[in-house]
This record gives sequence, C-alpha cells and structure tokens, in this order.
Amino acid sequence: MSTLAVSRHDFRILSEEMEDRSAEDVLAWAAERFAGRIVLTCSWQMQSSVLVDMLDRIGAEVRIVELDTGLLFPETYETRDRLIARYGLEVERVEPEQTVAEQALSEGDELWRRDPDRCCALRKVAPLQRALVGMDAWITGIRRVQSPGRLTARKVDLDESRGVVKIQPLVDWSDEDVVGYLYAHDVPYNPLHDRGFPSIGCVPCTRAVQEGEDRRAGRWAASGKTECGLHLP
Ligand code: SF4
Repeated sequence: MSTLAVSRHDFRILSEEMEDRSAEDVLAWAAERFAGRIVLTCSWQMQSSVLVDMLDRIGAEVRIVELDTGLLFPETYETRDRLIARYGLEVERVEPEQTVAEQALSEGDELWRRDPDRCCALRKVAPLQRALVGMDAWITGIRRVQSPGRLTARKVDLDESRGVVKIQPLVDWSDEDVVGYLYAHDVPYNPLHDRGFPSIGCVPCTRAVQEGEDRRAGRWAASGKTECGLHLP
C-alpha cells in the first residue's frame, strides 16, 4: 500500500469542504492539487463522457486510462474513439496480464460463468492496481444513485487499501443531470444507454434491463454479484 498524499486530518477537512462544491470545481481543484499524479479511469459509459468534456472545458490536464478487459462492447470502443476524435485525448490502455484466449487456457473457458469474482479480479482489479502505481488521486464517475453500495460515496473519498484519494465529482448527480449535461454540451456518449443499458460492462456479463427492473439488474444477471471490485465499500 502506498502512502496517502494527504493526512487523514486534512482529508476529513477537504472532503467536507468539497461536498458542497460543483463537479467542475472539484475536478479543477483535484487536477491542480494532484497535478502529475492524478488519473481518470474510463469505462466509456455516460459518466466518462461527462468527465472528459468537463476536463476539456475547464482546461485541466490529467492522465486518462482505459481499463480494457478485452471483452467490451463494440459500441463502447466506438464511443472511446469518438471522444478521442472530438477532444484529442491521449488514452493509455491498461490491459489484463492475459488475453481472453490465454485466460481460457490457464483458467478454463468462460471463467466469467464459473467464477466472475476471479474473472473481474484478473481483468479489472489487477489492471486498476497497476494503473494506480505512482498516482496520488483517482478520478471516477461513480454516482450514489447507481447502487445501494455507492450511497455513502463522497466527492472526495479515500481508498486506503490502494493508497489514493478518490475524486468523484458526479457522485450527487441524478440520471437527469447526466443526460441533461450530455445534451446541453452535445457530448458523444455510448449509444447502448439508449437501448436499455443503464450500466455497461463486459459483453458476457451485461444485458439490457426491462422496464421496472433495477438499473444494475443487467450486470452479472445470473449471479448475486453486484460490483466488479474496483470500488471498495
Ligand atoms: Fe469477467 Fe464479466 Fe468481470 Fe468482465 S465483467 S471481467 S467478463 S466477470
């Protein structure tokens, strides 16, 4: 575990202070406070689109990392490419140690069916760990309304086990806030959101949700799994 860039005392004050600030303010403050040691991870869902646009508008430079499991939807990769073209982004791809084919040889075919926690650990959590090496702060797009486990998330949080300050500018945004922002600024976004996918992950573990279903019902639908392990409680 690396050393936190702020003391716990300072963190508590900062976290309290930032809670009332706008997403733009939080992002601008974090980009300056942790300059050169801050990373935005993108899953190319609608939150990624908002954050990429916001960084561009406030003129903040941060490292951008794509955690590419090798199993994302074609629409997700296309969304990434449209955002790169629109904003001139430099995106660093961080991949799992093994390709999907290599994983099938060492772990057996379709690990996600038998042990999705291990599959996420190999294809998402381990790459994140590598992406955070040398970083003091990690920007994520999580929002409280996404799941009960995210209800207590704050705009500035700590991930003590990974030794980083988490910056979560959109944590108090509603769905309407996100969609309103995308339309207001004409930001490219993942078209799967318009086809019944409120939450988008890997192809084998994501389906569209039906009317009346929970927004996360389409993720790991056949199992009791609700989180990939990137965002610790
Ligand atoms: Fe594997 Fe599914 Fe997790 Fe993707 S979401 S890493 S396919 S278990």
